[in-house]
Amino acid sequence: MRECFEIRSTDAGGRLGELTVPRADVTVETPALLPVINPNLDTISPRRLADEFGAEILITNSYIIHGTEDVREEALANGLHDVLDFPGAIMTDSGSFQLAEYGEIDVTTEEILEFQHAIGSDIGTPVDIPTPPDVSRERAEAELETTQERLEAAEAVDTGEMLVTAPVQGSTYPDLRERAGRHADATDLDVFPVGAVVPLMNDYRYDDVVDAVTAAKRGLGADAPVHLFGAGHPMMFALAAAMGCDLFDSAAYALYARDDRYLTVRGTRNLDDLAYFPCSCPVCASYSPTEIRELPDRKREEALAAHNLHVTFAEIRRIKQAIRAGTLLELVEQRARSHPTMLDGYRTLLDHAAELERTDPVSKGAFFYTSHESARRPEVLRHHRRLDRLSVPDSLLLTEGDAPRGDEFDASWRVEPPFGPFPRALSKSYPLTAEVPDRTDRAAIAAAADGVTRLVESNPDTEFTLAHRGWPATIRDRLPARVELVDLTGE
Ligand SMILES: [Zn+2]
Repeated sequence: MRECFEIRSTDAGGRLGELTVPRADVTVETPALLPVINPNLDTISPRRLADEFGAEILITNSYIIHGTEDVREEALANGLHDVLDFPGAIMTDSGSFQLAEYGEIDVTTEEILEFQHAIGSDIGTPVDIPTPPDVSRERAEAELETTQERLEAAEAVDTGEMLVTAPVQGSTYPDLRERAGRHADATDLDVFPVGAVVPLMNDYRYDDVVDAVTAAKRGLGADAPVHLFGAGHPMMFALAAAMGCDLFDSAAYALYARDDRYLTVRGTRNLDDLAYFPCSCPVCASYSPTEIRELPDRKREEALAAHNLHVTFAEIRRIKQAIRAGTLLELVEQRARSHPTMLDGYRTLLDHAAELERTDPVSKGAFFYTSHESARRPEVLRHHRRLDRLSVPDSLLLTEGDAPRGDEFDASWRVEPPFGPFPRALSKSYPLTAEVPDRTDRAAIAAAADGVTRLVESNPDTEFTLAHRGWPATIRDRLPARVELVDLTGE
């Protein structure tokens, strides 16, 4: 168990947790948002982030501070908390981003970690190599080796109570991400950013983001706090939380505001295109879009940044509530409808349903079947696995209709898409209490048929009859041939 991180509750791969940051004497509730502060120009002051938005933690760049003489001297003399005037926890980045952008930086891991410690950072970062997507395997492996050497160098630096991150790289090679995760987890470092996914997010490759993060998480232990580095847009936070990411940083709130872009949980709007604000945050409640457009540049940027932050923090609260209520995947389904590439991301997440199933609670309030992707949720998978363990009689009717009156069968079980067959005694237990639309879709029927197949194949001595409501021939054909079929709609 990692001392700095405790998981309170889980839903799918998502978790509510507490990150203890000893140097700041602060406990941060996760999932948490870390607004990015540029020490040279803050749109919203760190004090305002804490007081008005409830920010418990922020992130700033120690490499920029290191390279800006007056800020550096002030930070060394008075400490970062004083310079920024922020009471919460402060994480610092190391310049790896600058390394990725400009090709070189002039500090070593030891130097920048000692500097982060000297200026009073609460969570410091070594100089890893952020390998971009789609590079050759040789390059990804070689750079990963360098990153791993730097993590080992970071372990040797005396950083006192400061937590230190261990970035997980590996480009778009899932096996390298997993290996990197395993290596990082074996160090005594504390927080685990999944690095270099920004280029994927900038290109809307959410499916590749999911594959990279889930691979990293396979290598990391379940108790490792995971930071999705550079995940700034609130549209994808629910998806990221469902993968098991605990920390998000956002520069987007300020960067987008600079270009008159207005964030929503369903995507980005241009201020010029808005006649009405679809939001009731203090900014949107006080101004109309026209009034904001007429503000002077600096004021307009600040107003939009404030709105962008309100939306972003509200989404984090919504995610925490969803994890608590067991409805995180329903929130992800809603967000997946915002953009086709988000849907790709959600569908890819469901490819990893077996991994999500491990942390998904056995019982929750309700299962709402709200899209055909719901047929692939971990609850369905878990029910199918449970079918192997249920005892069955010699002859069994599986039916979407009522129980038969006669004694033609030893027993009759219900069949309900997307779960498939189950003994009637289980019908009041989660997830079989699911709310499912009356107009069943093909994906739900196919999943139910998979359940039937699984039950039949694990009970070779039982005679099965399936009474279904007009299942399509292509799905019926996938059932084992020995299942007797009755079409209830044909009677
Ligand atoms: Zn607003």
